Amino acid sequence: MSAILRLDDVAGGYGEVRILHAVSLEVVEGSITALVGSNGAGKTTLMRVLAGLVPLAGGRILFAGRDIGAEPPHGRVAGGMALIPEGRLVFPDFSVEENLRIGAVAPRARAGAPARMEEMFALFPRLRERRRQAAGTLSGGEQQMLALARGLMAAPRLLLLDEPSLGLAPAAAAVLFETVPRIRARGVSVLIVEQDISSTLAIADAGYVIENGRIVLSGNGADLLRDPAVREAYLGLRAG
Ligand code: ATP
Repeated sequence: MSAILRLDDVAGGYGEVRILHAVSLEVVEGSITALVGSNGAGKTTLMRVLAGLVPLAGGRILFAGRDIGAEPPHGRVAGGMALIPEGRLVFPDFSVEENLRIGAVAPRARAGAPARMEEMFALFPRLRERRRQAAGTLSGGEQQMLALARGLMAAPRLLLLDEPSLGLAPAAAAVLFETVPRIRARGVSVLIVEQDISSTLAIADAGYVIENGRIVLSGNGADLLRDPAVREAYLGLRAG
Protein backbone atom coordinates (compact mmCIF):
# COMPACT_ATOMS: atom_id res chain seq x y z
CA MET A 1 0.00 0.00 0.00
CA SER A 2 1.79 3.08 -1.18
CA ALA A 3 0.97 6.64 -0.21
CA ILE A 4 -0.48 8.85 -2.94
CA LEU A 5 0.02 11.84 -0.65
CA ARG A 6 2.51 12.31 2.14
CA LEU A 7 3.07 15.35 4.33
CA ASP A 8 6.18 15.67 6.44
CA ASP A 9 6.18 18.43 9.07
CA VAL A 10 4.10 20.79 6.94
CA ALA A 11 3.86 24.37 8.17
CA GLY A 12 1.75 27.14 6.71
CA GLY A 13 -0.38 30.15 7.47
CA TYR A 14 -1.19 33.66 6.41
CA GLY A 15 1.65 36.17 6.40
CA GLU A 16 3.26 36.10 9.82
CA VAL A 17 0.44 34.07 11.32
CA ARG A 18 1.40 30.42 11.57
CA ILE A 19 -1.69 28.19 11.49
CA LEU A 20 -0.25 24.74 10.72
CA HIS A 21 2.58 23.35 12.84
CA ALA A 22 4.52 20.29 11.71
CA VAL A 23 1.57 18.44 10.19
CA SER A 24 2.54 14.94 9.08
CA LEU A 25 0.05 12.56 7.53
CA GLU A 26 -0.40 10.24 4.61
CA VAL A 27 -3.17 9.17 2.27
CA VAL A 28 -2.78 5.57 1.18
CA GLU A 29 -3.62 5.10 -2.48
CA GLY A 30 -7.23 3.98 -2.91
CA SER A 31 -8.26 5.05 0.60
CA ILE A 32 -10.63 7.55 2.13
CA THR A 33 -8.57 9.47 4.68
CA ALA A 34 -10.31 11.90 6.99
CA LEU A 35 -8.97 15.00 8.67
CA VAL A 36 -11.39 16.01 11.38
CA GLY A 37 -11.40 18.76 13.94
CA SER A 38 -13.40 21.68 15.20
CA ASN A 39 -13.92 25.12 13.77
CA GLY A 40 -10.72 27.02 13.17
CA ALA A 41 -8.43 24.01 13.70
CA GLY A 42 -6.71 24.64 10.36
CA LYS A 43 -8.44 22.13 8.08
CA THR A 44 -9.23 24.54 5.26
CA THR A 45 -5.78 26.09 5.53
CA LEU A 46 -4.24 22.64 5.06
CA MET A 47 -6.39 22.02 1.96
CA ARG A 48 -5.26 25.37 0.55
CA VAL A 49 -1.61 24.52 1.19
CA LEU A 50 -2.11 21.18 -0.59
CA ALA A 51 -3.74 22.83 -3.58
CA GLY A 52 -0.98 25.45 -3.76
CA LEU A 53 -3.25 28.36 -2.85
CA VAL A 54 -1.42 29.11 0.41
CA PRO A 55 2.39 28.86 0.35
CA LEU A 56 4.15 26.06 2.15
CA ALA A 57 6.13 27.62 5.01
CA GLY A 58 8.03 24.50 6.01
CA GLY A 59 8.17 20.74 5.55
CA ARG A 60 7.50 18.66 2.48
CA ILE A 61 4.53 17.52 0.39
CA LEU A 62 4.98 14.42 -1.73
CA PHE A 63 2.25 13.67 -4.26
CA ALA A 64 2.63 10.36 -6.09
CA GLY A 65 6.24 10.35 -4.89
CA ARG A 66 7.01 13.80 -6.27
CA ASP A 67 7.86 16.84 -4.16
CA ILE A 68 5.19 19.38 -5.18
CA GLY A 69 5.80 22.00 -2.49
CA ALA A 70 6.89 24.63 -4.99
CA GLU A 71 4.49 23.68 -7.79
CA PRO A 72 1.74 26.15 -8.76
CA PRO A 73 -1.93 25.11 -8.42
CA HIS A 74 -2.40 24.32 -12.11
CA GLY A 75 0.63 22.01 -12.04
CA ARG A 76 -0.93 20.06 -9.18
CA VAL A 77 -4.23 19.76 -11.06
CA ALA A 78 -2.36 18.58 -14.15
CA GLY A 79 -0.64 15.99 -11.96
CA GLY A 80 -3.98 14.59 -10.79
CA MET A 81 -5.01 16.51 -7.68
CA ALA A 82 -8.47 18.10 -7.53
CA LEU A 83 -9.79 20.33 -4.74
CA ILE A 84 -13.52 20.71 -4.12
CA PRO A 85 -13.50 23.83 -1.95
CA GLU A 86 -15.87 24.57 0.88
CA GLY A 87 -19.11 26.20 -0.23
CA ARG A 88 -19.79 24.17 -3.40
CA LEU A 89 -18.72 26.80 -5.86
CA VAL A 90 -20.60 26.05 -9.05
CA PHE A 91 -21.11 28.53 -11.86
CA PRO A 92 -24.75 29.45 -11.16
CA ASP A 93 -25.69 30.74 -14.62
CA PHE A 94 -24.15 27.82 -16.49
CA SER A 95 -26.03 24.60 -17.00
CA VAL A 96 -25.11 21.39 -15.21
CA GLU A 97 -23.54 20.10 -18.41
CA GLU A 98 -21.50 23.27 -18.92
CA ASN A 99 -20.25 23.13 -15.33
CA LEU A 100 -19.10 19.56 -15.92
CA ARG A 101 -17.34 20.49 -19.15
CA ILE A 102 -15.43 23.24 -17.32
CA GLY A 103 -14.15 20.55 -14.93
CA ALA A 104 -12.40 18.79 -17.78
CA VAL A 105 -10.17 21.61 -19.04
CA ALA A 106 -6.95 20.08 -17.66
CA PRO A 107 -5.01 18.35 -20.46
CA ARG A 108 -5.16 14.99 -18.68
CA ALA A 109 -8.97 15.20 -18.66
CA ARG A 110 -9.84 16.48 -22.13
CA ALA A 111 -9.72 13.33 -24.22
CA GLY A 112 -11.95 11.24 -21.98
CA ALA A 113 -14.39 14.04 -21.13
CA PRO A 114 -17.52 12.85 -23.00
CA ALA A 115 -17.24 9.32 -21.59
CA ARG A 116 -16.54 10.68 -18.13
CA MET A 117 -19.60 12.91 -18.29
CA GLU A 118 -21.70 9.80 -18.95
CA GLU A 119 -20.06 8.15 -15.94
CA MET A 120 -20.94 11.18 -13.82
CA PHE A 121 -24.57 10.94 -14.91
CA ALA A 122 -24.54 7.26 -13.95
CA LEU A 123 -23.06 8.13 -10.55
CA PHE A 124 -25.41 11.09 -10.02
CA PRO A 125 -28.68 10.36 -11.90
CA ARG A 126 -30.22 13.57 -10.59
CA LEU A 127 -27.64 15.56 -12.54
CA ARG A 128 -28.61 13.78 -15.75
CA GLU A 129 -32.25 14.77 -15.21
CA ARG A 130 -31.15 18.36 -14.70
CA ARG A 131 -28.36 18.51 -17.27
CA ARG A 132 -29.73 21.57 -19.07
CA GLN A 133 -30.81 23.41 -15.93
CA ALA A 134 -28.83 26.40 -14.60
CA ALA A 135 -26.67 25.22 -11.70
CA GLY A 136 -27.87 28.10 -9.50
CA THR A 137 -31.39 26.66 -9.51
CA LEU A 138 -30.33 23.29 -8.05
CA SER A 139 -30.89 22.42 -4.38
CA GLY A 140 -27.92 22.60 -1.99
CA GLY A 141 -27.44 18.84 -2.10
CA GLU A 142 -27.60 18.79 -5.90
CA GLN A 143 -25.06 21.62 -6.11
CA GLN A 144 -22.70 19.66 -3.87
CA MET A 145 -23.11 16.63 -6.16
CA LEU A 146 -22.36 18.88 -9.14
CA ALA A 147 -19.25 20.28 -7.42
CA LEU A 148 -18.09 16.71 -6.75
CA ALA A 149 -18.83 15.58 -10.29
CA ARG A 150 -17.03 18.60 -11.70
CA GLY A 151 -13.97 17.73 -9.60
CA LEU A 152 -14.09 14.16 -10.90
CA MET A 153 -14.28 15.43 -14.49
CA ALA A 154 -10.61 16.46 -14.03
CA ALA A 155 -9.76 12.72 -13.84
CA PRO A 156 -8.03 13.14 -10.48
CA ARG A 157 -5.99 10.51 -8.70
CA LEU A 158 -6.63 12.34 -5.42
CA LEU A 159 -9.75 14.28 -4.52
CA LEU A 160 -9.48 16.89 -1.75
CA LEU A 161 -12.92 17.44 -0.26
CA ASP A 162 -13.28 20.45 2.02
CA GLU A 163 -16.31 20.26 4.33
CA PRO A 164 -18.69 18.85 1.73
CA SER A 165 -21.54 18.36 4.22
CA LEU A 166 -21.51 21.96 5.47
CA GLY A 167 -24.95 23.56 5.16
CA LEU A 168 -26.63 20.51 3.68
CA ALA A 169 -29.98 19.24 4.92
CA PRO A 170 -29.54 15.94 6.82
CA ALA A 171 -30.94 13.83 3.97
CA ALA A 172 -28.59 15.45 1.45
CA ALA A 173 -25.64 15.00 3.82
CA ALA A 174 -26.54 11.30 4.14
CA VAL A 175 -26.48 10.93 0.35
CA LEU A 176 -23.12 12.66 0.26
CA PHE A 177 -21.60 10.27 2.82
CA GLU A 178 -22.88 7.34 0.71
CA THR A 179 -21.33 8.83 -2.40
CA VAL A 180 -17.76 9.22 -1.16
CA PRO A 181 -17.14 5.43 -0.90
CA ARG A 182 -18.47 5.08 -4.46
CA ILE A 183 -15.83 7.57 -5.56
CA ARG A 184 -13.16 5.46 -3.81
CA ALA A 185 -14.56 2.42 -5.64
CA ARG A 186 -13.69 4.18 -8.91
CA GLY A 187 -10.05 4.13 -7.86
CA VAL A 188 -9.87 7.75 -6.71
CA SER A 189 -8.14 8.38 -3.37
CA VAL A 190 -9.95 10.86 -1.14
CA LEU A 191 -8.76 13.24 1.57
CA ILE A 192 -11.87 14.60 3.27
CA VAL A 193 -11.91 17.41 5.80
CA GLU A 194 -15.02 17.60 7.96
CA GLN A 195 -16.65 18.94 11.08
CA ASP A 196 -19.21 16.11 10.96
CA ILE A 197 -16.76 13.84 12.69
CA SER A 198 -18.91 10.75 13.25
CA SER A 199 -20.30 10.49 9.70
CA THR A 200 -16.83 11.06 8.28
CA LEU A 201 -14.94 8.59 10.47
CA ALA A 202 -17.65 6.02 9.73
CA ILE A 203 -16.69 5.98 6.03
CA ALA A 204 -12.95 6.61 6.45
CA ASP A 205 -10.22 3.99 6.21
CA ALA A 206 -7.91 6.21 8.21
CA GLY A 207 -8.31 9.43 10.12
CA TYR A 208 -6.37 12.23 11.72
CA VAL A 209 -7.63 14.66 14.33
CA ILE A 210 -6.31 18.21 14.10
CA GLU A 211 -6.38 20.74 16.93
CA ASN A 212 -4.86 24.23 16.74
CA GLY A 213 -2.94 23.32 13.61
CA ARG A 214 -1.42 20.12 15.06
CA ILE A 215 -2.30 16.49 14.53
CA VAL A 216 -3.22 15.16 17.97
CA LEU A 217 -4.53 11.67 17.15
CA SER A 218 -4.54 9.26 14.23
CA GLY A 219 -5.71 5.76 13.52
CA ASN A 220 -8.15 3.82 11.43
CA GLY A 221 -11.61 5.37 11.11
CA ALA A 222 -13.45 2.82 13.25
CA ASP A 223 -10.89 2.95 16.06
CA LEU A 224 -10.96 6.75 16.19
CA LEU A 225 -14.74 6.69 16.31
CA ARG A 226 -14.52 4.43 19.39
CA ASP A 227 -11.71 6.44 20.99
CA PRO A 228 -12.90 7.85 24.33
CA ALA A 229 -11.00 11.13 23.80
CA VAL A 230 -12.65 11.66 20.40
CA ARG A 231 -16.07 10.75 21.75
CA GLU A 232 -15.80 13.11 24.66
CA ALA A 233 -14.13 16.05 22.95
CA TYR A 234 -15.95 15.97 19.61
CA LEU A 235 -19.09 13.93 19.90
CA GLY A 236 -20.20 15.19 23.31
CA LEU A 237 -20.35 11.64 24.64
CA ARG A 238 -18.96 10.42 27.92
CA ALA A 239 -16.58 7.50 27.76
CA GLY A 240 -17.89 4.15 28.92
P1 ATP B 1 -13.61 25.99 9.63
O1 ATP B 1 -14.28 24.70 9.79
O2 ATP B 1 -14.18 27.06 10.51
O3 ATP B 1 -13.38 26.41 8.22
P2 ATP B 1 -10.90 25.16 9.69
O4 ATP B 1 -10.42 24.06 10.57
O5 ATP B 1 -11.07 24.87 8.25
O6 ATP B 1 -12.21 25.73 10.31
P3 ATP B 1 -9.25 27.33 8.87
O7 ATP B 1 -10.29 27.91 7.98
O8 ATP B 1 -8.10 26.64 8.26
O9 ATP B 1 -9.91 26.34 9.92
O10 ATP B 1 -8.74 28.48 9.82
C1 ATP B 1 -7.69 28.28 10.75
C2 ATP B 1 -7.29 29.61 11.33
O11 ATP B 1 -6.76 30.43 10.30
C3 ATP B 1 -8.41 30.39 11.97
O12 ATP B 1 -7.93 30.94 13.16
C4 ATP B 1 -8.71 31.47 10.97
O13 ATP B 1 -9.15 32.63 11.61
C5 ATP B 1 -7.37 31.70 10.31
N1 ATP B 1 -7.50 32.15 8.89
C6 ATP B 1 -8.22 31.55 7.92
N2 ATP B 1 -8.10 32.22 6.76
C7 ATP B 1 -7.30 33.28 7.00
C8 ATP B 1 -6.78 34.36 6.21
N3 ATP B 1 -7.08 34.48 4.90
N4 ATP B 1 -5.99 35.26 6.81
C9 ATP B 1 -5.66 35.14 8.13
N5 ATP B 1 -6.10 34.15 8.92
C10 ATP B 1 -6.90 33.24 8.38
